[in-house]
Amino acid sequence: MIVVTGATGQLGKLVVQGLLKTLPADQVVAAARTPAAAAGLGAEVREADYDRPDTLVSAFAGAETVLLVSGSEIGKRIAQHAAVVRAAATAGVRRVVYTSAPQADTSPLVLAPEHKATEEIIRESGLAFTILRNGWYTENYADSIAQAAKTGALIGSAGDGRVASATRADYAEAAVAVLTGQGHEGRTYELSGDVSWSYQDLAAEIAAVTGGEVAYRDLPADEHRAALTAAGLPAPVVELLVSLDGDIARGLLAETSGELCKLIGRATTPMPETVRELLATG
Ligand code: NDP
Repeated sequence: MIVVTGATGQLGKLVVQGLLKTLPADQVVAAARTPAAAAGLGAEVREADYDRPDTLVSAFAGAETVLLVSGSEIGKRIAQHAAVVRAAATAGVRRVVYTSAPQADTSPLVLAPEHKATEEIIRESGLAFTILRNGWYTENYADSIAQAAKTGALIGSAGDGRVASATRADYAEAAVAVLTGQGHEGRTYELSGDVSWSYQDLAAEIAAVTGGEVAYRDLPADEHRAALTAAGLPAPVVELLVSLDGDIARGLLAETSGELCKLIGRATTPMPETVRELLATG
C-alpha cells in the first residue's frame, strides 16, 4: 500500500489520481492535514499532520511506501519532515520517497538547506528511499502570466537566467512511476523540464498568445522588492521571490538533465503549452 502525504495539495492530488489509474483503490491512501479536503479523491483518507506525530504513525499503518510531499511552511520543514521519517520507521514502512529540490546537497539555492537536511535524515533513517529532486513548476508563474497579459509587463530580477521548468502533472507522473515501478531504491533523480527558457522567452510567449505587446522588465533586486511590496505581497514572500530570481540569474534552476523525460517516457510539457492553458483557463 502507498500513502501519499500532502494529498490535498496540488502535486499530492495529481499523484493520488495517477496512482488510482494503475493500482486498486485499496492500495492507495491520501494522507492529509485536513482530511475533509481530501474527500472525493477516491482513495482512503487518513489524517496526517506533520506537526502532530501521533497522527503520522497511524496514517502510515500497513504502508509499504510513503511519498513525503515536502511541506509548504518554510522554516518549519526540517522538524516536520524528521517527524514524518520517524513515524514511517515506527510504523514499519519499507521505503520513503521524498520531493526535494535541484542539487539539494550542494546548491546555494535559497530553498535547498531544508531539503538537504531532509535528505540526510532519510538516508540516516536506514529506510529504503528514493529522492525526487523536483525542479521548478511552470505553474509558479500563473499570477505573473495573468498580470503580464493584463498590463503588458512581466517584471522580475532574474536577468537572462533560464528556468528548466515542467508542469506539476509531469512531476506527479514521475512520482507515480517511481512509486509503482522497480529499480528506484537508493536513487536520487534530478528532475526538470527538457527545455529551459528565460523571462524574455516567457514574455514573448504571453504576447504570442494574447496578441498584445508584452515585455520583460528586468529590475535591480531593490526595485523588484519595492514593486512586489507595492503590489501588496507580504514581506517574507517578497524576500523569497527576489532571492529566487537571484538564484535563477545564477543559473540554479536551469539544468536540463533529461531525467524527468526518461522517467515519464515522454517529453516534458513545454512552457508555451502551459502559458496557453493558463491564459485559456485563468
Ligand atoms: P501546495 O501548497 O499545493 O500543497 C502543499 C501540501 O502540503 C498541502 O497538501 C498541505 O496541506 C501540505 N502541508 C503543509 N503543511 C503541512 C503539515 N504541517 N502537515 C501535513 N501536510 C502539510 O504545494 P504543491 O502541491 O504545489 O507542491 C508540493 C510541495 O512542493 C510544496 O509543499 C513545497 O514543498 C514544494 N514546492 C515546490 C515548488 C516547485 O516549483 N518545485 C514550488 C512550490 C512549492 P493543507 O492542504 O492542509 O495546507
